[in-house]
Amino acid sequence: MKKNEHLLRPEFTKQVAELYHDMEAAYDQTAKALDFSCSGCPDNCCDSYFLHHTYTEWAYLWHGLERLEDSQLKNITAKATKYVIESEAALARGERPIIICPLNEDGLCSLYSYRLMICRLHGVPAAFVRPDGRKLDFPGCFRCQEHISGDNSVAPMDRTNFFRRLVELELKLLGQRRMTAPKVKLTIAQMIVKGPPEL
Ligand code: SF4
Repeated sequence: MKKNEHLLRPEFTKQVAELYHDMEAAYDQTAKALDFSCSGCPDNCCDSYFLHHTYTEWAYLWHGLERLEDSQLKNITAKATKYVIESEAALARGERPIIICPLNEDGLCSLYSYRLMICRLHGVPAAFVRPDGRKLDFPGCFRCQEHISGDNSVAPMDRTNFFRRLVELELKLLGQRRMTAPKVKLTIAQMIVKGPPEL
């Protein structure tokens, strides 16, 4: 049995895949309505510094990593280790790290089906209503903002339901451990270097 499989029952894995699929579909719908596409973009979002907060995404990422050839995983782990060292150095200098994700290979995601939530949602304008009722707005990436140039006729993508479903999955995964499990606050590189979550 792979190290991670005791956490990810088939039904659970299927629900994560469905959630990720629905995020993609919502993103595509908004992008289409805006007539916006990433093709030709001079930037690469994969060098953005993001922290991730769920065991669900961490475990599902490893569900994908464990399917790679040993040599590919070794190569990715080496890049992730370098990422962790360089990002810690940047943070110690008070800078936000700008380093390409260790999963990016020649500009493309090498673990595309398992990429995390933010990789699927970043780009188009979006909104999110927090459980306390406060609404947060995301304007979209710089290029999308330029593209729409202030035209708000297309409704932003609503992230609320996706976050809610992810929290539900997280509670299901953690079960009784939700009160005691340490909080997750990790980059993708850290998730790779640490190995699958131990719960
Ligand atoms: S997981 Fe894939 S899409 Fe997300 S930042 Fe890394 S390379 Fe880019």
